[in-house]
Amino acid sequence: MKKDTKVVHAGHNKARNGGAVNTPVVHASTIVFDTMADLREAERKAAAGERAMSYGRRGTPTHWTLQEALTDLAGGAETILVPSGLSAGTTAVLACVKAGDHILASDSIYGPTRDFCTSFMTRFGVETSFYDPLIGGGIAALMKPNTTLILCESPGSLTFEVQDIPAIAAVAKKQNARVAIDNTWATPLYCQPLKLGADLVIEAATKYIVGHSDAMMGAITGTAEAIALVKKTNGALGLSVAPDDVYLATRGLRTLAVRLERHQASAMKIAQWLQGRAEIKRVLYPGLPGDPGHALWKRDFSGATGLLGMVFKTTSQVAVEAMLAGMDFFALGFSWGGFESLIAPLDPKRTALRWNEPAPGIRIHVGLEDVDDLIADLDKGLARFCKALGSS
Ligand SMILES: *Cc1c(COP(=O)(O)O)cnc(C)c1O
Repeated sequence: MKKDTKVVHAGHNKARNGGAVNTPVVHASTIVFDTMADLREAERKAAAGERAMSYGRRGTPTHWTLQEALTDLAGGAETILVPSGLSAGTTAVLACVKAGDHILASDSIYGPTRDFCTSFMTRFGVETSFYDPLIGGGIAALMKPNTTLILCESPGSLTFEVQDIPAIAAVAKKQNARVAIDNTWATPLYCQPLKLGADLVIEAATKYIVGHSDAMMGAITGTAEAIALVKKTNGALGLSVAPDDVYLATRGLRTLAVRLERHQASAMKIAQWLQGRAEIKRVLYPGLPGDPGHALWKRDFSGATGLLGMVFKTTSQVAVEAMLAGMDFFALGFSWGGFESLIAPLDPKRTALRWNEPAPGIRIHVGLEDVDDLIADLDKGLARFCKALGSS
């Protein structure tokens, strides 16, 4: 089955759906049983991690459909759903480390996941250090005997460096450290990191999978060995995802392939247009030939999505604010992955190495609007930018 077909059909179970194309929203906390034997059997299945209605927190058929679809797309053993993309990151971390361990985290990882490692986890005796996202196999030099987890995000969703996951995974395997990667930019459609050697894949389903800016969700898919740890951790934390939101995510997933095609085509056209602008120093988009990450992107990804960055030759806070303030279609906002275009300042926080580009730059999410309307909007915005820069 080709990937676009999988997006449409994966996880579909006619018997489970009573014939309906979509799995209905099954609400449940309590499940009642006819006999003690049935109750015991549900308990046994829940303990063994088998699909069974035993208690609402453990999931209902609505959840199973999305879990099975994401597992199939990612090429993993199982998927755990959690209430947000951030909780997917934090649950993966908690599953992989214990007191006394050391985490190596890419300097490009999602800010709140970074904060979780440096503030929350230190209270439990777990130390985190940050590495250059472009380090590749050179990460061997940073491994400590107690390094049990390497966190990656590729491309970084602010700075867009593409990481050499196979090289990093090869180093991790030598001492049984696990590799967890945030794959939100690419989605399971455009990159399958488990096939590149990762143990766990984190998706902020809030973004492209839900796709309509209306529900929050995270997903963790893993190898059999790694996902078992996540399952245990998730069970212990008591996280639970509402079936209504799961329904929205599954519905979003079914159109992911066609939405991403449009996001990609428009983002590429805008990236190329931006490259030709005198104000722009560099467009951060691995799909662009000439981007430093383009070769790795070509090797490991099958597409590029709608999120990209740009840095200016000369910039100022005032000029960026002048641009952002008057946009017609690019709304001011930090999330992305919905049908609409968004814009935000780009000013990365780094510790492993300095971000040497002039800041602030700008990050845009290219939505599903007509691309020529979007280019006209950016054109007017850049005129405001230049005017403000010239008069400051
Ligand atoms: C948004 C985002 C998250 C967090 O997702 P939420 O659902 O907002 O918690 C994690 N990683 C990346 C790369 C993101 O863009």
